[in-house]
Amino acid sequence: MNEEKSSAETWSYIARTGSGESTLESHLPLILSSIAALGVAPFAVMRMMAGEWLVAVIDTIIVVGFIALGTLVYRTKRVRFASIAISILCVSGVVSTVYLRGPQQVYWAYPALMVAFYLIKPREAILLALVTLAALIPKLVPSSSSFHTMTILITIIVTCAFAYGFSLVNSRQQNQLISMATIDSLTGAGNRRALEIKLAEVIAAFKRKRLPVSLILLDIDHFKNVNDVHGHAAGDLILQRITEIVNLRIRVTDGMYRIGGEEFVVVVDGQDIKSATYLADQLRTLVEVNELVPDRAVTISLGVAELQVDETSSDWLHRADGALYQAKRSGRNATSVAK
Ligand code: GH3
Ligand code: MG
Ligand code: MG
Repeated sequence: MNEEKSSAETWSYIARTGSGESTLESHLPLILSSIAALGVAPFAVMRMMAGEWLVAVIDTIIVVGFIALGTLVYRTKRVRFASIAISILCVSGVVSTVYLRGPQQVYWAYPALMVAFYLIKPREAILLALVTLAALIPKLVPSSSSFHTMTILITIIVTCAFAYGFSLVNSRQQNQLISMATIDSLTGAGNRRALEIKLAEVIAAFKRKRLPVSLILLDIDHFKNVNDVHGHAAGDLILQRITEIVNLRIRVTDGMYRIGGEEFVVVVDGQDIKSATYLADQLRTLVEVNELVPDRAVTISLGVAELQVDETSSDWLHRADGALYQAKRSGRNATSVAK
């Protein structure tokens, strides 16, 4: 998970995974847009009182835009869309006021660009900053002394460079934070929290598209005995090797999660019970034929369940667990299908 993230996105991720304040996701962009709306509103009123109607209308559009976007995030949790829109609104507000009111308005560029560096990805923010500078230069150059213009341009560039560096470091650290919160350190598979998020996502997608989705519950057979005979370290290595074997076989859109000591879940996106069972049995054979310890085969038992209409994630897991129990009862090294 090395993808570049904005601070706002990371907060939303942490809020969803339940490791942060549950209200953080909606509140941070809401607070930012409220501050922006409150900051611009007095100017809209002042322009109206001064009869500067064009600027007053633009200021009002900006205020209404911020309120609308803040409300959108609060209601729909569409943080990413609103973050991009708020950033674009901020800089276009600055550019249009500079053009209408004159270059002395350029000081708004500093907070507007800082908002962008906070809300959107570092690379997107730097692109937006460059576009903003390019748009401002034609208005700044002829109207003030070259020394003054240079000072403004250089301070904007320096500020953006610091903000870029800061948001890049921040983005890396936050990626690490997310991976620590969602990845099992021994095997590199997702952990239970990551599974909860994945299940919520696939259930929501199932409600929209009605495409089949299945899950495979997988448990190593007689693992306690394997540990007793070959040692705990060998047991750990087996857990890692099985994760590797499964990950090599499943698709990138599928996910593997470790939910207990030697118990894993594979979420098979877009597959009905028939193809998921076929896959499960392939996994079973692959583990069996890999010589994970000398002189004996390490085997797994699997339970497969396809998501049913109106089923909750715990009901779904429960059915897969029932199937796994059947596979164990039938003598282990077996795949069983949930009713
Ligand atoms: P069954 O076929 O019924 O699943 O039997 P089992 O022995 O696999 O199941 P049981 O639940 O009795 O034991 C699970 C064992 O998994 C117990 C524990 O020693 C081992 N285990 C759990 N977590 C880890 C781990 O992180 N590393 C290692 N090496 N072993 C672990
Ligand atoms: Mg077991
Ligand atoms: Mg078990």
